Amino acid sequence: MVKCKELLSENLTRGAGGELLLAGVSVPDMARKYGTPLYLYDEDRIRERCRSFKAAMKESFGEEALVLYASKAASFKRIYEIMSEENMGIDVVSSGEIYTAQRAGFDLSRAFFHSNNKTDADIEYAIESKIGYFVVDNAEELYAIDRIAGERGVIQRLLLRLTPGIDPHTFAAVATGKVDSKFGSAIETGQAEEITLTALSLSNVELCGFHCHVGSMVFEADVFLEAARVMLGFANEMRLSHGFTAKIIDIGGGFGVRYTEDQPQLDIEKCIKEIAEISHGVCRELDFPMPVIAIEPGRSIVADAALTVYTVGTVKRIPGYKSYVSVDGGMTDNPRFALYKSPYTIIPAERDLGEDVFVTSIVGRCCESGDILQENQIMPRDIARGELIACLTTGAYNYSMASNYNRIPRPPVVMLSGGTDRLAIRRETPKDVAALDV
Ligand SMILES: *Cc1c(COP(=O)(O)O)cnc(C)c1O
Repeated sequence: MVKCKELLSENLTRGAGGELLLAGVSVPDMARKYGTPLYLYDEDRIRERCRSFKAAMKESFGEEALVLYASKAASFKRIYEIMSEENMGIDVVSSGEIYTAQRAGFDLSRAFFHSNNKTDADIEYAIESKIGYFVVDNAEELYAIDRIAGERGVIQRLLLRLTPGIDPHTFAAVATGKVDSKFGSAIETGQAEEITLTALSLSNVELCGFHCHVGSMVFEADVFLEAARVMLGFANEMRLSHGFTAKIIDIGGGFGVRYTEDQPQLDIEKCIKEIAEISHGVCRELDFPMPVIAIEPGRSIVADAALTVYTVGTVKRIPGYKSYVSVDGGMTDNPRFALYKSPYTIIPAERDLGEDVFVTSIVGRCCESGDILQENQIMPRDIARGELIACLTTGAYNYSMASNYNRIPRPPVVMLSGGTDRLAIRRETPKDVAALDV
């Protein structure tokens, strides 16, 4: 008999009839009310994650420590409202994210604008929106910000994104801190020092500190400790050589999340404590005034707050080869297996797995062989058209990466809080999908 899969996070349980519950609410009931595919979020879980990050940072780094939600993980109005209510800072990466945060009433003085290629239009829009900080990727962009800020009579605050030359031991497409990365200016090549001097020489910008982000799905605390050490070391060099003292050091996000039962659970509180010990130690040793420390968790705030519910369609068994269970969504609502072979756990939503099971691929409805949600999933042998299944841990980089490939309308987002459900994004219709055709 194949081992029964556990439910991965504590907001998931089974009801008396074996139905899956998220935050105590019946997943099949929600599927019947809103249709499938459906993104279902446990809003209280998101708030709890924000609070525990903030509490841990405050304890280790004091009142002014910054927790910035990297909003590309899940970016829509309701999320920014939650971040505003939870008094979080945010990272944004485009005019679209800035606009959405604005619509949610988010105070943009607590927003940090990232991206490796901000257009002049982006820069103008962000400055006009009174964004708190730019995180500047390269010198070209720095000159553009200085020019545009100058035209508007603004002194724009900023951090410089540096590449500390750290290998985060993660998937190549999400490793961003190595010297040859497309992001940031490398410390090793001298470009980091060069851009620091440039920033100090310009009159319409105010350099406040340095940023790095080594990658995503990092499970080893050592990676963050090394990032803190390298960044503080660089800040100290800039102080000694050029008399510039960084006020903010941002060590990025990337805290790993558990998608399958064989992945580890990163103890984030312990990790933050260790980062603090190293940082305080390095500052003492170098006699460097402790800067404000910022972190930018994205995935770890929202991933396990959500699941996606699908209805099974065709079940295809190819004797001697493999089996396919097709669902009414796919790479259009979750492209991560297609992009990165990312692991997920998919389980029945209306009943327990039971003992009579088989191994199958779960695939989407797109005209594309690569449209696979996950391989090697264990499903009840008699699974058939019409049954509901759920893909767990889809709160991050699912809705935000969703597309209309094959002109498939995107699913709605429903938020659960205190046992009640509320629509955050309505379901798209074929008319929505064609709405921009002129
Ligand atoms: C994507 C990103 C993050 C968040 O990464 P997660 O893996 O979602 O925590 C943080 N900082 C920057 C600069 C990023 O690009």
